[in-house]
Amino acid sequence: MLRVRFAPSPTGYLHVGGARTALFNWLLAQRQQGVFVLRIEDTDLERSSDEMVEGILDGLRWLGLDWHEGPAAGGPHAPYFQAQHLERHRAMAADLVRRGRAYACYCTPEEITAKRTAAEVAGGGWKYDRTCRRLSAEQIAAFNAEGRPHAVRFLVPDGTTRFDDLVHGPIEFDHANLDDFVILRSDGQPTYHLSVVSDDIEMQITHVIRGDDHISNTPKQILLYEAMDAPIPRFAHVPLILGPDKKRLSKRHGATSVMEYARQGYLPEAMVNFLSLLGWSPGSGDRELFTRDELAGVFDVSGINGGNAVFNQEKLDWFNQQHMMRLPIAELATRVKPWFEQAGLWRDDYSTSRREWFFAVLELLRPRAKRLDEFVPLGRFFFDDTLDFDERAVAKHLYPAGIGEVLQALLVALDHLPSYDPATLEVCVRGTADAHGLKASAFIHAVRVAVTGRTVSPGLFDVLSLLGRDRVRARLDVWARSAG
Ligand code: GLU
Repeated sequence: MLRVRFAPSPTGYLHVGGARTALFNWLLAQRQQGVFVLRIEDTDLERSSDEMVEGILDGLRWLGLDWHEGPAAGGPHAPYFQAQHLERHRAMAADLVRRGRAYACYCTPEEITAKRTAAEVAGGGWKYDRTCRRLSAEQIAAFNAEGRPHAVRFLVPDGTTRFDDLVHGPIEFDHANLDDFVILRSDGQPTYHLSVVSDDIEMQITHVIRGDDHISNTPKQILLYEAMDAPIPRFAHVPLILGPDKKRLSKRHGATSVMEYARQGYLPEAMVNFLSLLGWSPGSGDRELFTRDELAGVFDVSGINGGNAVFNQEKLDWFNQQHMMRLPIAELATRVKPWFEQAGLWRDDYSTSRREWFFAVLELLRPRAKRLDEFVPLGRFFFDDTLDFDERAVAKHLYPAGIGEVLQALLVALDHLPSYDPATLEVCVRGTADAHGLKASAFIHAVRVAVTGRTVSPGLFDVLSLLGRDRVRARLDVWARSAG
């Protein structure tokens, strides 16, 4: 049974890179009918906060990445908060000492710093010189008697550690480059390596999928598994996400928090699709559009490529538009409602008696909208009778001599139309222009400015049809009397 985990440290919101790591874990669990565990690594008490934990959960929920075990979901290893298992981590350190695989280190930070500095001054690197490995039983007893605090260091054996990374292939680390790393600090605080391995053993994690920045941690962690005679999980290190300038993605490139994208009007469907293709490809063909479930049906770790992935906002916009086009219209209506509410333009009858009309307006606007927030500015004139006129457009299109008279004729003609469908409206508008020796295109511009306030809108005849007789009449009437 495959068991994977996403193990964020709640020292910030869920960022794009973390979300992608979570997604790959989730997809693999779905594909293999395994278990996706969410574990909050909150051991850095100063930098962790409940607010950040909630922020991470919100981000995952928004993306639809539900976890089988973890905060709120519970599970056999609850609570899924690392800081609540420090006793188990400490017990593992004690076990490693008993097994002869770790030892107490009484060196003070000052002693260590002095040796490191001396080595650096001499121009060399430094690793822990195993002073405390050579302590006699009497010295240890004496230190303990004086109450001197001690850290616990892992005894790194000679040799090399090799592992087959599922993304990068075989990786080998020479132990000569590792020092006897601290697993338990002198204040009793377990270090990251100890906690993460203790938790992964306890939670029976079979595959560790995480960012590339953890590659150098992996040999140390493998040594800990081996020393505990615990099965070693498979590792897959996912490449970094870079900005378009090929530098590590950061705030300089735009929003990095996933929920920031939600606030900007992106769909979770688009974000999931976009993130999935940052460093992964489905292999066959050049298909790019996938739903979350479709991804779960085809995802495979072998499709993760080792090269760094570039975060391209225009591509995200494209995915957003594509997924917006595919949403059932009633669903789109639900998604845009908060934006209408925020703009003070929502009316309850848009979900009751005027529901079909509201859907039709959204249908007209959506090919032009890249994000959910764009529906209000694109279609404001449908929802608000106080138009925001573009003065230059008014001067250019409504003030040429004679326009008022033609608008007046159009008003009369429209009143006699048996039907208000776009095709009938088109014949009427063009016919009126012709009858007055006006170019249809010029007249269409004038009518558009009169009824929307702007020079750019969806097709005029669709707009007129959806605005309906009364509103078109009222808007044209103003200009029939005051235009040029
Ligand atoms: N808590 C670690 C982090 O947020 C992840 C540890 C891991 O995946 O092994 O970077």
